[in-house]
Amino acid sequence: MGIKLSQLVDHFSGGTPQPVVGFGTDEQKARMLPPLIRGEHRSCFGVTEPDAGLDTTHISTFARRREDGGYVVNGRKVWTSTAQRADHILLVTRTTPIEDCERPTDGMSVFYTDFDRSKIDVHEIAKMGRKAVDSNAIFIDGLEVPEEDRIGAEGEGFKVLLHGLNAERIIVAAAAVGFGMYVLEKAAAYARERVVFGRPIGQNQAIQHPLASVWMRLQAAELMTYKAATLYDQGKPCGLEANTARNLAGSAAYEAAFRAVRTHGGFGFAQEYHVERYFRESVLNFIAPVSEELILSYVAEKALGMPKSY
Ligand SMILES: Cc1cc2nc3c(=O)[nH]c(=O)nc-3n(C[C@H](O)[C@H](O)[C@H](O)COP(=O)(O)OP(=O)(O)OC[C@H]3O[C@@H](n4cnc5c(N)ncnc54)[C@H](O)[C@@H]3O)c2cc1C
Repeated sequence: MGIKLSQLVDHFSGGTPQPVVGFGTDEQKARMLPPLIRGEHRSCFGVTEPDAGLDTTHISTFARRREDGGYVVNGRKVWTSTAQRADHILLVTRTTPIEDCERPTDGMSVFYTDFDRSKIDVHEIAKMGRKAVDSNAIFIDGLEVPEEDRIGAEGEGFKVLLHGLNAERIIVAAAAVGFGMYVLEKAAAYARERVVFGRPIGQNQAIQHPLASVWMRLQAAELMTYKAATLYDQGKPCGLEANTARNLAGSAAYEAAFRAVRTHGGFGFAQEYHVERYFRESVLNFIAPVSEELILSYVAEKALGMPKSY
């Protein structure tokens, strides 16, 4: 099944079901992917947990194997986007306690399964932005998952998960580039029109230079995003490129939004011009799906050969 990243984005929150594309059996791909692409299924992604944060190997949601087949899952997830409406979940669990594993990355498993609301409680989180997409804490109590919903081998879930994370980084990088260009154009348009001291404020280099600088950063981020996406679609390693694209694009988008507020002066603070809202939205670029700090630590390790710090 030749599926490109872009086909899977629309109906899947929090990244993509790339783990199914990369590790699913033919039967699983045929059963799980077409309804997603057609928009008949809506899925969410449950990896983050309140007590593990970015340290994913320390999640405690556990899938216990039943003697008569399948699994029973118990645990908690947080920040699960679109769980108010989702009918499926890509769920990351442990299947062996971390204390019994040789390496922390062992003993995890990934499932793509029904979001059974009789076994999952969903509580929405109030937040500063991204209000078009609900964010939730979910409580899983005795969720039954058939064996055929496990993606990849039992215990090899970390590898399966990583396959999807690069795709997610690339998609959010592309979104940040688009967001940044949009906000930048708002700032430039205002700068062209707003007249103070008898001339457009955009005639002042103090206004021009930061905006020009952001434009260049966004161009560079866009190219890195295409590079990462090309490598990904060719099935080549792209962790460094995907994380770099995410960080370049995210920080440039934040700067674009901040500069848009500054360019608008007092009206930048007013809701009427929307740039204050874009500024609030842009902060997320430093936090999710992975923080700037963790990206820098990863790049220091993988590109520069420094000791792992996380
Ligand atoms: C709007 C939104 C939507 C989300 N959607 C989803 C979703 O659909 N599914 C899902 O599973 N998750 C989702 N998340 C979760 C998101 O991926 C996490 O919030 C993110 O990975 C950060 O984890 P954390 O919040 O637990 O931060 P923590 O791990 O608690 O980290 C807190 C701070 O400490 C820093 N830090 C921690 N350890 C180190 C270290 N070793 N070195 C340097 N700095 C460090 C981090 O960089 C960060 O700044 C979403 C989050 C948000 C805000």
